[in-house]
Amino acid sequence: MLTKDRGICIRAVDYSETSQVVTFFTRGQGKLSAIAKGSKRSKSSFGGPIELFSEGELVFSDTGREGLATLTEFEEGRGFGRLSGNLVCLNCASLGIELVRELTDEQDSHPGLYDGLVRLLQNTEGCRGRLDALKLLIMFEVTLLQEVGLLPVFQRCVSCKRGYDSKWDQVYFSSSANGFVCRDCEGGFVDKVRISRECGDVLSDFNRLVGAKQETVERIEELLVSYFQNVLGKPLKTARYVITS
Ligand SMILES: [Zn+2]
Repeated sequence: MLTKDRGICIRAVDYSETSQVVTFFTRGQGKLSAIAKGSKRSKSSFGGPIELFSEGELVFSDTGREGLATLTEFEEGRGFGRLSGNLVCLNCASLGIELVRELTDEQDSHPGLYDGLVRLLQNTEGCRGRLDALKLLIMFEVTLLQEVGLLPVFQRCVSCKRGYDSKWDQVYFSSSANGFVCRDCEGGFVDKVRISRECGDVLSDFNRLVGAKQETVERIEELLVSYFQNVLGKPLKTARYVITS
């Protein structure tokens, strides 16, 4: 049976002289790995090798014994070729697709996340610099965490449940406890890190990200990367190109 969907290429590896194994994040089926036979031939029906970040309509057959579907058609709609012209934007977009690759499953569809990834690629392509790119990446990471049910608790202390408000003079975050910890409870969490009030304010209300300062934005991205790595139990390959400190 053939299935039609929209997808973004989140991995492309050579399979043979002429073929590739490509992983798409599709809107309707989630992550999908497929063999694209003959895709590296210049006269292939795919119009040449399929590249990372390509987005478009695809048609594929059922998954075979090796866990691979066969890609029969791919028509690129939006290319994000301009991403490669700006290293900061490219690195942020690369981390976005690595996160999707690592945190979603095959046949687990998340249309909202798909749209979020398209937005990330589209907007980082035209963004003005590091601060804007990081803000776009953070918004995408929050969407991802919500979609996969991993968003930490940023509205109250995970231990005593006291609501986060302006009376908190110290704010801590613990990856293992999955959220904020207040000054009265922090002693019980060995992995907690202290964060600034500014970071606490943005994390508890992401609408504040728009007006956040560079320092705050950088720190939040560091915190989220360390949280993701803790959840995955391994480093993210592209994170070191985004986190500079
Ligand atoms: Zn507490």
